[in-house]
Amino acid sequence: MKIDFHCHTTASDGALSPEQLVQRAGDRGIELLSITDHDSVNAYQQLSTLPKGLRLIPGIELSCQWQKRGIHIVGLNIDPDSDAMAEATSTQAKARALRAEIIAEKLAKYGVENPLEGALAHSDGGAIGRPHFARHMVNTGFVSNESEAFKKFLGSGKTCDIKVCWPNPEQAINWIVNAGGVAVLAHPGKYNMTRSKLVSFLEDFTRWGGAAMEVVSGRQIPSQTTEFSKLCRQFSLMASWGSDFHSPAQTWLDLGSYSTPPDDVTPVWNHWQ
Ligand code: AMP
Ligand code: MN
Ligand code: MN
Ligand code: MN
Repeated sequence: MKIDFHCHTTASDGALSPEQLVQRAGDRGIELLSITDHDSVNAYQQLSTLPKGLRLIPGIELSCQWQKRGIHIVGLNIDPDSDAMAEATSTQAKARALRAEIIAEKLAKYGVENPLEGALAHSDGGAIGRPHFARHMVNTGFVSNESEAFKKFLGSGKTCDIKVCWPNPEQAINWIVNAGGVAVLAHPGKYNMTRSKLVSFLEDFTRWGGAAMEVVSGRQIPSQTTEFSKLCRQFSLMASWGSDFHSPAQTWLDLGSYSTPPDDVTPVWNHWQ
C-alpha cells in the first residue's frame, strides 16, 4: 500500500494547489493520501475529482503549545465539515492572524518593508504562516534565502517565533476526536526534545486522548525510527508516516517518499483500507 499521511497545499504553506497535489500523488502511484494543511481543511472544500486509484483520508495539522514549545498534532480521518473542525479552524485562523501581526511588528523593527502586506500576498488567502514572511523577506532582498530568514528571525527560539497564540495539545486533541478523527503526534524528531521530555509529552498526549505518532517524517536517520517505534509500543500508540511534502522545489523530498518505516508497529490506517 503506497501511502502518504502528511503534506501541504496552497491552503497553508504548500506550493501546489489541492488539485495539483492530488494529481502529483496519483502520478506517483499513491493509493491512500491525507492532505494535512496547517490549521486548515480548505483543500478538501476545493477538490472535486480525484485521480483513479487514489483515496483521500481527510486530515489537518494543528499548531499547539506545550511547556512553551510549539508542537504539531495531525488529525487523520476527521470530518472536515464537522462543528468541531469549524471551531478548530476558525479559532486557529484568529490565532494566526493575531500572531502574524506580532511577527510583522517585530520584523518591521528590524527593517523589513511592509511585512504583513507582503506575507499576506504570499499566503494568498491560505493559512498565513512563517514561510510566507520568509518568502517576502527573500523577495525584498532582506535575506538571500528562506533558510536564512528562519535561521536569523523566524526559526525555533528566534525573536519572531511566536507561540503564545496557540492552544494546548488537549484542546487540539479534543477538536480532532470530536471531528471523528485520530490525533497523531507529528514529526517527534523536530522539536529538539530529549528522550525524557518526549516521554513526558507522550504521558500527557496519551492521557488527553492522543492515539498515534509519526514514526517516520520525510528523511530521518534509522536510529530515530527505531526509537519512535519503541515509544509507540511503550505507549500503545498506532504509527503513521508521511513526507511532509511542501513543494516540488524541495527536490530531495517528494510525495510518498520517506525513510523506510518500521515493521514492528501498528499502522494507523489498518482499519481504513
Ligand atoms: P508556522 O505554521 O507559521 O508555525 O510555520 C511552520 C512552517 O515553517 C513549517 O511547517 C515549515 O513548513 C516551515 N519551516 C519551519 N522551520 C523551517 C526552516 N528552518 N526552514 C524553512 N522552513 C521552515
Ligand atoms: Mn509547513
Ligand atoms: Mn509540522
Ligand atoms: Mn507539516
